[in-house]
Amino acid sequence: MSIEKTKRKFGMASEQEILDGRVTDVYFERTHQILEAKNISKRVKMEIRLKSLPNQWTWGVLSGIEEGLNFLEGHPLNVWALPEGTLFRSQEPVMVIEANYEDFDKLETSLLGFLCHASGIATKAARSVIAADGRPVASFGARRAHPAISPMIERSAFIGGCNGVSTVLAADYLGVKPVGTIPHALILLVEDSSKAVSMFDEVIDSSVPRVVLVDTFGDEKFEALANANMLGEKLYAVRLDTPSSRRGNMLEIAREVRWELDIHGHNHVKIFITGGLDEDTIPPLNEVADAYGVGTSICNARVFDFGLDIIEIEGRPVSKRGKFSGTKQLYICPQCGERLVKLWDDENAICPNDGQKALPQLEQVMDQGKLLIDLPTPQEIQAFVLKHLPKTL
Ligand SMILES: [Zn+2]
Repeated sequence: MSIEKTKRKFGMASEQEILDGRVTDVYFERTHQILEAKNISKRVKMEIRLKSLPNQWTWGVLSGIEEGLNFLEGHPLNVWALPEGTLFRSQEPVMVIEANYEDFDKLETSLLGFLCHASGIATKAARSVIAADGRPVASFGARRAHPAISPMIERSAFIGGCNGVSTVLAADYLGVKPVGTIPHALILLVEDSSKAVSMFDEVIDSSVPRVVLVDTFGDEKFEALANANMLGEKLYAVRLDTPSSRRGNMLEIAREVRWELDIHGHNHVKIFITGGLDEDTIPPLNEVADAYGVGTSICNARVFDFGLDIIEIEGRPVSKRGKFSGTKQLYICPQCGERLVKLWDDENAICPNDGQKALPQLEQVMDQGKLLIDLPTPQEIQAFVLKHLPKTL
């Protein structure tokens, strides 16, 4: 038997293929066939949760809910979920789905994919944002990932707290202006840093902050000074992106640049650092950096291993080995923030610390495929995340 190979330019699924449940593991498709052939239809409840967070982290940022709900919309399903942007812990249910199983089987693979990928990125972004301790962090990782998912990556990074994204398409998707500096390529083409900068200043709309790379041909300190002398007040920031082979100590380079800028009266010029940054390499630079661009570590964040399990069939609690049966709800104490995972509608969701009644967090968001809530904007979700992020890692 020959297998027909679909021709496509890029290795990506179209929106329609995803909606049609084509991105499913084949075993769900086979299960569907068997259930149909044998006329088996059972009402089930399923739960999505993460068994453990990577690297002994204690929280993750839930992302991918909007895409997940857009994907489920129109199918005869009831869905309860935590709001997108919730800081969740391992073992807490983040979504509960009720359906006749044959109406859901082929949707599991993609639904988990939306949540696992986006939450991994949003969490890693949030960790960089905490590490930067109030300094803006821009997402610069588009070039490290497949372009088809660049909007998802940038949205997740933005939700996690990144203040800007670099690709034009993702910025459109988020309703923000893309952020960027001046590429080394332009400087190389013009063969002169100052000339490239003055061309940028001449051609590009004045509302775009002038952020200049200062490591293309010469020493960072002297290029920074030359640009500051040339652009004066118009120079917003210098960007340090020194290649690792020349880098030595980035903190020392940044300190020296800051010193020279200040001593020559360019105190207003900010220092923007990029290149191989993450939550570990950012904190020592906070002494002198005003902002960061983070690429690979955010866009290539480890995906989360959310699992989806049947926890109730025809109203009876069931589960596979190693899982807890029964439909569970996450309760949070309004007084002290204590988190409790208990059975749905548990009357005893009382905080052990202060006796307060803990409040259920998963709310119904879909009724028979009909969306019940207005999905929040990325800006609203980001504000929600920033409000709840811990101050330190
Ligand atoms: Zn409490």
